Amino acid sequence: MAELTFTPVIGIEIHIRLKTDTKIFCSCSTNPESEPNTNICPVCMGLPGSLPRLNHTVVEKGMLAGLALNCTVQPKSLFFRKSYFYPDLPKGYQISQCDLPVVANGYIEVHDAEGNLKKIRVNHLHLEEDAAAMHHSASDGRLEGASTSYVDYNRAGMPLGEIVSEPDISSSAEAVEYAMNLQRRVRYAGASDADLDKGMMRFDANVSLKCSDGRWGRKVEVKNMNSFRALERAIEFEIKRQKKILLSGGEILQETRHWNDAKGITSPSRVKEFYRKFIVEPDLPPLMVNQEWIDKVTAMMPEMPDVRANRYVNDWGLPREVAEVLTDDKALADYFEACVKAGANPVRAAHWVRTEVLRVMNERGQKIADFAMKPEVLAGLVVRVDEGKLSTTQGKEVFDYMVANDASIDDAVKALGITEGGVAGNALNDIITSVIAANPDVLEEIRSGRDKKGKKLKFLQGLVMKETKGQAKPQEVAEAIAEAVK
Ligand SMILES: [Zn+2]
Repeated sequence: MAELTFTPVIGIEIHIRLKTDTKIFCSCSTNPESEPNTNICPVCMGLPGSLPRLNHTVVEKGMLAGLALNCTVQPKSLFFRKSYFYPDLPKGYQISQCDLPVVANGYIEVHDAEGNLKKIRVNHLHLEEDAAAMHHSASDGRLEGASTSYVDYNRAGMPLGEIVSEPDISSSAEAVEYAMNLQRRVRYAGASDADLDKGMMRFDANVSLKCSDGRWGRKVEVKNMNSFRALERAIEFEIKRQKKILLSGGEILQETRHWNDAKGITSPSRVKEFYRKFIVEPDLPPLMVNQEWIDKVTAMMPEMPDVRANRYVNDWGLPREVAEVLTDDKALADYFEACVKAGANPVRAAHWVRTEVLRVMNERGQKIADFAMKPEVLAGLVVRVDEGKLSTTQGKEVFDYMVANDASIDDAVKALGITEGGVAGNALNDIITSVIAANPDVLEEIRSGRDKKGKKLKFLQGLVMKETKGQAKPQEVAEAIAEAVK
């Protein structure tokens, strides 16, 4: 009998907080730093007689997010009342676009197991309001076993976009790449900060297994993943759990399960799905989006990260990996491009940003927005090294001094006692390369370890010094040759 194989069939629902100053149906602030229950009003508290008014910036951010996911804007969409009873929902219903959304029919690309690009279809993005935040006193933060629960209505009415994928995802790795790519794209579009630590992005996954004998497991919805790692682990766990049941001839229950990050397991959700009914929201007219509005929002869309990375590779000859690091964050890519615009060679500017600038960011736990050195200033330094006025080593010393002391290039050069000029940097490297190329036998001797006393190295140094007509610093020549023969 052939061994049974299982193909995971996964769809993901991602909630993102849309980036607006005020809530979706009232003018309360969306500031996440506010004290609990201070950003509330009759509308978001669901008091009788209060009327929702749609915030048009929310619609624009939803459109931007949708366009970033290659969706099409729908000229007409609707809002519904999704009824359920729970303390985080003061009205007794949530206002949501459900399946008549503002944008639909998009896709994002991920890499499959063979490394090929694969399209994951995005069914739609719909707008809805967030519920209040609940804090339970139990040690694991869950409702069970808690003696007290607190409700913070600041979150009630925060604008959300719910992005629903088709079940095109086949592994946890694809799921994580999909989610990361989505995060990058909505950030680029300025639609959401999608900050996982601040609860601005949350994941639910639908997982089922297709068995090679034709059986098809029922769909299980897994909720409560708040990090990429949790998304990956929850899907892995669910695939293993379902596989075990199917292999033992059992049946998968169609159910909602809760991911417990501390225990690393999913368990049946105890929060009952209360009575649910959808009716059209009578207090909100249909949302109509005309072509003029679509054009306006389309014009606001920046170049997306993958397009940008391709441009770096094709136009500027950057290695793919470097292009992807630089375009991961829009602000970093903007910084790099400003360096190039200020006259730095793209490949060398990319190298400096990727190694030196990112090193400082990491050391200081900063973002590029906090980095004091203007891209034009870095470009000036890159050019000086390029022209050989500073050696690479000197350039890095100057960079560190500038960063540490907020100094100009000239001040740093002076403070470090560097005499510019002579032959250094790339000019020196070119000479070394040609000297080594002309003496392959010497190189071979050094590389094979026979040059124990370093005489051959000294010989190469002499040749290089002669070539530079004594303009290079012997110490630098020695270091550069030692590096070059490795
Ligand atoms: Zn309000």
